Parts: sequence; C-alpha cells; structure tokens
Amino acid sequence: MSRRRYNSSIHAPPDTSHSIEARKALRTHGLVPPVVESYELQAQRCMKQLNAKASNIEKYNYLSHLRNSNVHLFYRLVLDNFTTLTPLIYTPVVGEACLKWSEIYRQPEGMYLSYSDRGNLKEILQNWPKPNVELTVVTDGSRILGLGDLGINGMGIPVGKLALYTGCAGIRPEVSLPLTLDLGTNNEGLLNDPLYMGTRMKRVSEEEEGKFLDELMVALNEVWPGIVVQFEDFKNPFPALEKYQHKYSCFNDDIQGTGAVVLAGIISALKSSGLKAKDQRAVFMGAGSAGTGVAKQIVEYYMKEGLSEDEARKAFWFVDTKGMITNDRGDKLAEHKKYFARDDNNGLQLKSLPEIVDYVKPTILMGLSTIRGIFDEPLLNKMAKLNKNPIIFPLSNPSSNAECTFEEAVKYTDGRALFASGSPFQDYVYKGKVMKPSQGNNMYVFPGIGLAAILSKAKHISQEMIYASATALSSTLLPEEFASGMLYPSLDRIREVSVIVARDVIRTAQREKLDREPVLRDMNDAQLEAWIKERMYDPRKEDGYLELMRERNEE
Ligand code: NAP
Ligand code: MN
Repeated sequence: MSRRRYNSSIHAPPDTSHSIEARKALRTHGLVPPVVESYELQAQRCMKQLNAKASNIEKYNYLSHLRNSNVHLFYRLVLDNFTTLTPLIYTPVVGEACLKWSEIYRQPEGMYLSYSDRGNLKEILQNWPKPNVELTVVTDGSRILGLGDLGINGMGIPVGKLALYTGCAGIRPEVSLPLTLDLGTNNEGLLNDPLYMGTRMKRVSEEEEGKFLDELMVALNEVWPGIVVQFEDFKNPFPALEKYQHKYSCFNDDIQGTGAVVLAGIISALKSSGLKAKDQRAVFMGAGSAGTGVAKQIVEYYMKEGLSEDEARKAFWFVDTKGMITNDRGDKLAEHKKYFARDDNNGLQLKSLPEIVDYVKPTILMGLSTIRGIFDEPLLNKMAKLNKNPIIFPLSNPSSNAECTFEEAVKYTDGRALFASGSPFQDYVYKGKVMKPSQGNNMYVFPGIGLAAILSKAKHISQEMIYASATALSSTLLPEEFASGMLYPSLDRIREVSVIVARDVIRTAQREKLDREPVLRDMNDAQLEAWIKERMYDPRKEDGYLELMRERNEE
C-alpha cells in the first residue's frame, strides 16, 4: 500500500484537541472539524450532551458511546467528575442497563464464551483484537448485583468494573478484557425474549460449569501468561475461589473485596469508639457469600489483635431466613455457614432479630440480608442503649434494600452510631450538625489489589494480600476525616488511596514470596509509591500523537 492511512491501531481516535501538526503525523487531518480546541471545551460539550439526556439509561448509553469513540476523553471526564459519573457507569445504573441489555445493545463491549465453545476456548480467546491482556473481570451472569440471573446481559458488570479499575487505579484500558460466560440462564423472561442474545437453554449444572472454568483458567493463562482474573457476581462463587486461588492470580470481589472494605470500616470504627477487639460481639443479619466473607476477614483481624481463632469466631452470631444459625437447629447448614454456627446456645433456637439482639447484646450490627427496614426504630434504640457508639453497618444494596437509612441510624441512636452502608446516602443535619455517611464501597480496594497483582506479577492473590488491602485502606483516612466521623476516606482521593492499597499489597506479596518482579524488592516505600504512580494510566497525559511517537521510537 503506497498511501499511508490513519493508523487505527493507535488507541486515540481523531480528536479535536489534536494540534494540526499531530493531525498531519497521524494522518487524521480532515477527519475532524477544523477547530483545535482545549479539553475544557470538549468537556463542556460532553457534559451538555450528558445533562440533556432525560433518563439514566440514556446517560449510560451516551457514556458507553464516548468510551468507545474517545477513550482518553471519557476517562478524563470520569476522573474530573468522579462522584457524579461513577453511579452512571457502575451501580446503580449498570443494574438497570443489565436488565435492559437485550434492548440497549449497540456493540459487543467484551468477549462472550458459550458452553458450546468448550474445547476451543483458547482458540477463541486469541480472537481478541488487542495483543496484551493483563486483567479480566469474568461473570457467568448468574447473580448480577441483587437482580438475579441475567444470563449474558450481565456483561454490563465486567465492563463497568473494568472502567472503575482504570478510573480508580489507572489500569490501562487496552489491557483489560470484559468476559461473560454464556452457560445458559434460568431466567424465563430472557428465554422467552426474542431480543435475548445468549444461548437459549437452561443453565448447565455446577459440575459442567466447573469443568468449563477449568478449561477457561488454563486457556487464559496460556494466551496471556499470569493474567489477573477477577470473578464477579457468580451465584455460587465458593468452588472456583477455593479451586483456583492457590493456583492462579485471581480473586473474587464479592467475597474478598467486600470482606476487605468492611474490615477497613470496622478498624476505623473500633479506633473511633476506643473499644478493643476482644470486647466486640457482632450480630450479622444475612449469612450469604457477602456476610460470611466479611466475618472471616474480621476474624483474621481479631486474631492479629491477640484473640485465638476460636475466641474470634465466637464473636459472631449469624441470622438467616430460619433464625439464629446454630449447630442443632435441625436443618442441613450450607457449607459456608458451618464455621460460624453456634454450639453454645443450650438448645435455644431464636428466630427474630430483636430476640437475638436481646440475647447477644451486640456492639456491632451488620446487615447483608437485602431486607429494607429490618433495623427499625426499636432495634436501633436498643443498640444505642447497649452501646455508647453502636456500630451499625446496613450493607445491602441498592439503597432501597438497605436495612436502615443513614437518617434513621442517626436519629434513632441520638447521633451516636458509627455508620457505614453499601449504597450512598445524603449528608444529614442532626441537632444542627452536618453528619456524613460512610459508604463501604468495594471500589476502595479492588482496583488497588488488581494493580498490585499486575505490577508485582503475583503468582496468586493470597488471603494476606487481601487483608493488607483492608489495613492499607484504613490507614488512608485523614485526621480531619476521622474527626468528622467518617470511616472511609473521601472518594475524591481514590487514586491516592489505590496507590497505598497497591503498595501494601505488593509488600505482602513480597513477604510471602508470591511476587515475580524483583526490581520492586529493593525499593523503599516512597520509591515504590512513585514507581506505581508512574505506571498508572493518566488520560491527561495521553493522546494519539504521543502514542504514535512512542510507537515510532520502538520501531
Ligand atoms: P445472598 O447470598 O443472597 O445472602 C442473603 C442472606 O440474607 C442469606 O443468608 C439469606 O438467608 C438472608 N436473608 C434473606 N432474607 C431474609 C429474611 N427475610 N430474614 C432473614 N434472613 C434473610 O446475598 P449476598 O451476596 O450475601 O449479598 C447480600 C447483600 O449484601 C446484598 O444486598 C448485596 O448488595 C450486599 N453487598 C454489599 C456489599 C458492600 O457493601 N460492599 C458487597 C457485596 C454485597 P438464607 O441463607 O436462609 O437464604
Ligand atoms: Mn458483585
């Protein structure tokens, strides 16, 4: 070919912010309107268009389009408007997008692997057009947020989560792979919807899914050795995690990320209340994967604070649909509930939460049950009577499922609750004082964990590394944030937080000899932080022109 063309392998598309010189070098002269304009003007235009969209789903579509058409501009906009845009690219709006995926679909967004592809997964993965993948988020669509089985319409989740990895921790967008497994769906609505784009069959069995995942993990690691795999929104996430966590670089954010972020909140709350680990008693409303995952992380913390494993384990009382979880309740307990089942209840089988709170007299009340309002006025009054600073964490999402609102927690404990929720709540003015809610958002930890695993080339992601992300997060709270009752740092500082999380996770990987990047071992903390920052993708420093120059220098 004699005439050189616009090089479409360059990640930045033709862009009105490019200089004429850059356009000439890139062969994009004439492919954009003549003006050379500033980012500020581009951003102004984007925000005007975004604000003109009438519904959240239209805003979601607009932002998806922007990400696909001008990736650097999209991420710059996200970083500059972090707290207003993340709800539009991840929860809660991504949930609505997944529900409507069959209708709003415009482009693939990632890879889809079907059950009928088994035996050929490696070959198919090689079709991915980008040469280098360092991180994938994978879902089987079987439990999307709290919305149930959405089949391949769960693709919104890997896409959104990877956008947060880039936004929060500077993972380069072109090295991430959104991956959705098409293993059937038990959602009748989808099976009968002519627009549904997954295979029209019931979900395969657990054994069949297990075999499929075995092949997938091998294939991913053959195509992209050492790839970091994050599992997300699997209905039964435990088998894969148990099987692969000591074999590959992988983790499950629903279990481990949630556990770490809530632990960080508990560490801050204990610091704030001045109470010791050994004096804590926690009632957990809800004993699903999130609840037990969270409690396991707290057990580890209590043990580091000097308790034996048995003492630590005994500081938890779990409640599910059948009441307090005990060994002699008479039903067959799910595997993940057995560890915390009580054996000191002397035959007592309590059913209702108020009874259980009377019996346990807890210092901590955790909600992972999805039951809106179960932490009601009398229960919160009781917690306030029992404790100077009751620790109240209604973690169920979305806000409409929260066990109580921030306002209720403040009002019914006379402003003394140490509060963190799963979903965001507004500030609340109580007796003339502005009270600030804390949100135990997983995005405080998973981006830093992924970044650390990539940069240190971690062989696996150990429980100690996850634990380090929690202590790192709690260490980032500023004194003034702490004084105002916040249990987590402001989300505006998320990139700073991710650097500290990544630093401590890398250090732990080194201690455990799971790292494969020797250059990092001799660095002191400041050097390591600087090294991490340098490697983080910063859309402000990206444009196609620089990329072209880099590519030419490499040639
Ligand atoms: P899950 O596996 O469905 O577990 C729900 C648990 O609640 C089960 O143990 C269930 O009991 C119990 N439950 C439900 N209805 C109940 C009722 N009426 N009375 C008593 N117990 C009841 O869900 P999950 O994945 O653990 O997630 C739970 C919640 O946590 C979700 O809302 C999710 O959004 C939230 N979450 C928050 C974060 C965060 O804040 N960072 C992270 C992850 C998840 P059975 O076992 O008897 O069915
Ligand atoms: Mn999830």
